[in-house]
Amino acid sequence: MIEVRDLRKRYRGGTAVDGLSFSVAPGRVTGFLGPNGAGKSTTIRLILGIDRPTGGTATVGGRAYASLERPLTQVGALLEAGDLHPSRSVREHLRWLARSNGIGERRVSAVLEATGMAGAARKRARALSLGMRQRLGVAAALLGDPEVLILDEPVNGLDPEGVVWIRRLMKGLAAEGRTVLVSSHLMSEMALTADHLVVIGRGRLLADSSTAAFIASH
Ligand code: ADP
Ligand code: ADP
Repeated sequence: MIEVRDLRKRYRGGTAVDGLSFSVAPGRVTGFLGPNGAGKSTTIRLILGIDRPTGGTATVGGRAYASLERPLTQVGALLEAGDLHPSRSVREHLRWLARSNGIGERRVSAVLEATGMAGAARKRARALSLGMRQRLGVAAALLGDPEVLILDEPVNGLDPEGVVWIRRLMKGLAAEGRTVLVSSHLMSEMALTADHLVVIGRGRLLADSSTAAFIASH
């Protein structure tokens, strides 16, 4: 469960998040919808403790991200720009991440299988297509077998096959009772993916309802 309360983030240039409150429940896919610049990535960075809020709180399972004991096993996140080492292989990236987070080698093989990357495990990062990079990012997010998954614009730049794959994956994880938050600026994509929508604009909450109810009322 993710809880965002009166969250605010001001930058020198202006306010990116302007008093946001919402919850993300387990067992369903929650779409975080809003146009570019609405404040989605900023909110996600605040939830993940990558940035500090100007005000309010963002918690995962009742605790701030920074206070989680083994964060990777509780929250998996796919961010927009993955940091990849060009000459390291897919498996080496996952192995390094697993080692530095106390996660067993067996999980590396498991996520390679789960993301359809087993055949590409020895490919170097520089040789990966954008779709493969996305899959590697998802593999990394799944490495700790987390209860909470946060994906920031995962379908950006993905081929149609990849889009369908990631949609099925998110639905499957939600069906297992996990908490899944996925951001997008595309209503069409969220209509197919999300059970519930949190819609924001200019850092403020515009709607928080089931996808069906949102579509019916717009
Ligand atoms: P979204 O993810 O919905 O596209 P962002 O959270 O990336 O929106 O951005 C929200 C607003 O905050 C934008 O106006 C953006 O330019 C601004 N912003 C985001 N990050 C920074 C930053 N590090 N410094 C200054 N402004 C930022
Ligand atoms: P999005 O595609 O979600 O809108 P951006 O491309 O705006 O994200 O942001 C990418 C990165 O640039 C983020 O790390 C964000 O913090 C930073 N950034 C965004 N807008 C600004 C800004 N106005 N000033 C400084 N950094 C920014």
